[in-house]
Amino acid sequence: MPDKAAIKILNEKCTGCGLCVKACPFGAISMEGKQAVIDLTTCTFCGACVEACKFNAILILMKEEAKADLSDYKDLWVFCEQKKGEIQSVSFELLGKGRELADKLGVSLCAVLLGDGMEGCCGGLVARGADKVYLVDSPKLRNYQDDPYSKVLTALVRKHKPEILLCGATTMGRSLISRVAVKTRAGLTADCTGLDIDREEKLLLQTRPAFGGNIMATIITPDTRPQMATVRHKVMKESEPDAKRKGEIIKEGFPEETYSSRSRLIDVVEEIEETVNLAEADIIVSGGRGVGSPDNFDIIKELAVSVNGAVGASRAVVDAGWMPYSHQVGQTGKTVCPKIYIACGISGQIQHLIGMKSADIIVAVNKDPDAPIFSVATYGIVDDLFKIVPALTTHFKKILGK
Ligand SMILES: Cc1cc2nc3c(=O)[nH]c(=O)nc-3n(C[C@H](O)[C@H](O)[C@H](O)COP(=O)(O)OP(=O)(O)OC[C@H]3O[C@@H](n4cnc5c(N)ncnc54)[C@H](O)[C@@H]3O)c2cc1C
Repeated sequence: MPDKAAIKILNEKCTGCGLCVKACPFGAISMEGKQAVIDLTTCTFCGACVEACKFNAILILMKEEAKADLSDYKDLWVFCEQKKGEIQSVSFELLGKGRELADKLGVSLCAVLLGDGMEGCCGGLVARGADKVYLVDSPKLRNYQDDPYSKVLTALVRKHKPEILLCGATTMGRSLISRVAVKTRAGLTADCTGLDIDREEKLLLQTRPAFGGNIMATIITPDTRPQMATVRHKVMKESEPDAKRKGEIIKEGFPEETYSSRSRLIDVVEEIEETVNLAEADIIVSGGRGVGSPDNFDIIKELAVSVNGAVGASRAVVDAGWMPYSHQVGQTGKTVCPKIYIACGISGQIQHLIGMKSADIIVAVNKDPDAPIFSVATYGIVDDLFKIVPALTTHFKKILGK
């Protein structure tokens, strides 16, 4: 599909036949009297209405015709995710990085918060580095839902025109921001592991693994605004709160239609299979194919329990069905940043390293002295894991009094 940027109804040609209303898969067109009206917060410029209209009354303008003036866009925004009214830690990581980038660009750092009864959290976002907080508070925004969240965020973007918008590469963030990117016709780089500013061009440099993690690609978005990126949890360091910081809280509200949803939320069910919270753990003991079998994983679990840690796994282990996917660390699993990561029988392929190499201390146990895991390890033990792991468990139990 060619790149489109704006849509228009030619009122003099519109007969009010309603064909476009029926054709629109997104419910973005309604009739006002005998004229069709397009809701630009919902329209995705898919072109279905143009094809359906027998009177050539709908025009999609080509990008050049409708190109926005990029200089209208300013400030760096961080979408701050909340669950059950609690700000998620990925937001503090983004505010930390966002502060650094906003200072390089010489613009304000703005937090965007959507929810119900969230006003009390705004001060915390200022303390973490935000100069302004855009708050949209409504019972309709209590729990995340694609339609209202994406329409509200799109409306905010259209109104205030940020030049950069960052969001966590979480389940919610990925679902939300891709919709906003489509609605605003903006470029989006998913799953970034590094962000910087090209000071000369004033562009966001968005770095992410490409080609199965074999190269790191740096992507720029020179032609559209906002420049949008999702960032993996635990890749950036959280900003430290500073209670003395001052900031502005800007409350926004939108017409009722903006909060409407095509789906109905019946219930929020906590995932019960997830026995560990890998992403938040301080110590992780991970096992790889070298562990040999699902039963042998007991020694990895025992070591993890002895240090109050969580159990991680390589993809080889998950693919073999020895451990559930929720334990997988790496490019297609979780990114973790614990204080201590103990890798047992893991070779250290790039796709695994991407998910754990920012741990403060990495201990590797592997019988192959040339295993790539040793290139990132703080401490390396070249030996049989079946000898080392139980010995470590016994030692930790003793010194930790268990
Ligand atoms: C697109 C893509 C995405 C991927 N995403 C991920 C991902 O998210 N996470 C991930 O982990 N992988 C991922 N992979 C797979 C990755 O490339 C590796 O295949 C995988 O990490 C290997 O797992 P492993 O280290 O457990 O197994 P192996 O590479 O087979 O290594 C086993 C290691 O155990 C050692 N060993 C064996 N026996 C013992 C013993 N008794 N004592 C001590 N050491 C022993 C061996 O020396 C060896 O180094 C991905 C691959 C692709 C292509």
